[in-house]
Amino acid sequence: MEEAGFCVVCGRTDQFVNEGLCVDCDVKRTPLVGAVPKAKVVICPTCGSRQKSEKWEKWDGTGSATHLAAEDLAPFLRPREGVTIRTVSWEERGTLELRREIDASLALRYRETERMMHVAFPVVIEHRTCTSCGRKSGHFFTAIIQLRGPEGRLRGSGRDRRVWLQETWDRVLPEARPEWRNALSWYEEKPEGWDIYVVDTEAARSLARWMKPRLNAKLTESPTLYGRHDGRDVYRVTYCLRVPAPNEPTRERVERQA
Ligand SMILES: [Zn+2]
Ligand SMILES: [Zn+2]
Repeated sequence: MEEAGFCVVCGRTDQFVNEGLCVDCDVKRTPLVGAVPKAKVVICPTCGSRQKSEKWEKWDGTGSATHLAAEDLAPFLRPREGVTIRTVSWEERGTLELRREIDASLALRYRETERMMHVAFPVVIEHRTCTSCGRKSGHFFTAIIQLRGPEGRLRGSGRDRRVWLQETWDRVLPEARPEWRNALSWYEEKPEGWDIYVVDTEAARSLARWMKPRLNAKLTESPTLYGRHDGRDVYRVTYCLRVPAPNEPTRERVERQA
């Protein structure tokens, strides 16, 4: 509840104060709107679909595969409690294809006052082939990386499992070699986790082995006979990475403690 009183910072007594601060001092101390620290938009370069958390959404916004739109950017703003965002105009800067500097000019309402402010933050664009474009392209792949939780009975919802698996994977993936990352074609959601389709078996093997210690995972490799080509057996290889559940002590850690 606001009442006129003494501002502990500037000493005025003719303003409403909230937790000891007049509105001007309050706004100076804590910006009214911030932005998420690692803003990223995942876009299918073929059809422009956006990946929102784990689902692909067909894109009919004003942006494109290369241009970000208000619908892409608005979710990255973090207004303080009590702030109403009236209008935003967006400006995109930067010359890098996959990293943009965003400048948002905002008109806001806060504690009975109208205010203008700017929020600047970077946005990383990641190109990833969406499920339907991956399927349409004729199922071309030579290997699958299966990203899974721990062995045994499935606990919790498939959606939660996919979200943490994807977060774990995405945290490490940017450090992997670009040629491995470029070989990843599309991701399919499964109740147990993710199937990641890869167009190059060598890259899939290297990436899975590189990921193993970084995800603290168990890795199994299983080739399946796919058919014959030019008189030779053709195999597709599945690399299954089993990631320990979050906060679950791994056997290694338990042994070290013992
Ligand atoms: Zn004040
Ligand atoms: Zn697509």
